[in-house]
Amino acid sequence: MKSYFLVEPGRMELRETPVPEPEDGEIVIKIEAAMTCGTDLKAFRRGHPKMPMPTPFGHEFSGIIADAGKSVNGYREGDPVMGVHTAPCGDCYYCRRELENLCAVTMDTMLLGAYAEYIKVPRRVAQINTFHKPDFLSFEEAAILEPLACVVHGMEPLQIRNDDTVLIVGSGAIGLMHILLARCKGAHKIIVAGKHWQRLKLAAELGADQVIDATQQDTLEMVLELTRGYGANWVFECTGRPQVWEQTVSLVSKGGRVILFGGCPSGTTISFDSGRLHYDQISLTGTFHFTPRDVTKAYKLLIEKQIDVSKLISGKFPLTKLCDVFGLLLKGEGIKYAIRP
Ligand SMILES: [Zn+2]
Ligand SMILES: [Zn+2]
Repeated sequence: MKSYFLVEPGRMELRETPVPEPEDGEIVIKIEAAMTCGTDLKAFRRGHPKMPMPTPFGHEFSGIIADAGKSVNGYREGDPVMGVHTAPCGDCYYCRRELENLCAVTMDTMLLGAYAEYIKVPRRVAQINTFHKPDFLSFEEAAILEPLACVVHGMEPLQIRNDDTVLIVGSGAIGLMHILLARCKGAHKIIVAGKHWQRLKLAAELGADQVIDATQQDTLEMVLELTRGYGANWVFECTGRPQVWEQTVSLVSKGGRVILFGGCPSGTTISFDSGRLHYDQISLTGTFHFTPRDVTKAYKLLIEKQIDVSKLISGKFPLTKLCDVFGLLLKGEGIKYAIRP
C-alpha cells in the first residue's frame, strides 16, 4: 500500500509498505478520508517532540473496516467507522483521576499514518475510541471527530451564560470549531479576531456575531468597544503564539476566564500583569487533548447534527497530491483539506 512518511521537517516521502494485518483485538481500516490538521502543519514546519522522524504521518481519519482481528466485538469487515488516534491506559495516576488526557500512554502510543491507504488501529483505541459512522455523515466530516474532541475538552465543562460574550482569537479550523460549540452552548455574543479575511468571512457564516480583522483593526480597542469597556467574559486563544497568549490577559473582563488552546513551542515563557489575576480575579486555563468522554460527546454532536463541520472542508485531494496540499496550507489557503486515497 502507499503511505506517507514525514522524513524530516519540510520533507515527506510516499513509500510502499505492506498492508497491515490485525492481531487480536485490532482492526485494519481502509482510509476513506484523512484530514489535514494544524498539528501536522506544525510538525511539517518545525518537527514535533512526539513524532520522532521518519514517522508515519496524519492522524485524523475515517474509513471502512478492511479486516478485524480475533475478539473484536461490534465491528465487521465493511463497516464504515470513525475514531481518534489515541486512547488512555485507564489505570494510571491520571486516568484514575479522570485526567485521561494527561495519561502518558495516551501520547506515547498515538496512532499515526492516516495519510495512507490503510491503517491498523491498536486494541485499546479500537475498544475505547472507535465508533460506527452513520451514512448521513460524510467520511470527511467523520474524520473531524479528533479536533472536535479537543475543542469539546476545553469548552464543554464551562458554564457559559446566555448573557456572556465569548471572544475567540484565531480563525483557523480550531477557532472556527470554537464558534460552532459556543453557539451550541448558547453564548450571547461571539467575537472572532483573526488575520485572514476569507476565514473571518467563514467565521461570520458559522455564527460569529462580530469579526475583528487584526491586520486592520486593533483587537483590544475593538473588544472593549464591543463589550462596553468590560472585555470578554471568555477568551479562547487558538493561535499558539506567545504574543497572543500575553495579549489575551488584557482582553478578558474582570472575573473572566482565558482558555489557552494553542500550544506554543516548548520552553516558551510568557509574562503578564499579576494584578489582573489578583485584583481582577481573571483565570488562565490551559487545555490539552481529550478524554474518552470528550470523544463520545464530540461523536454525539456530529451524529445528532448539533454541529455542522462541513464548511471547514476546503477541498478534496488524492493521496498523491499531499505535498501540494501542504503547499496550500503553508500559504495560509483553506481550512482543512480531505485526502481521499
Ligand atoms: Zn488533529
Ligand atoms: Zn493512564
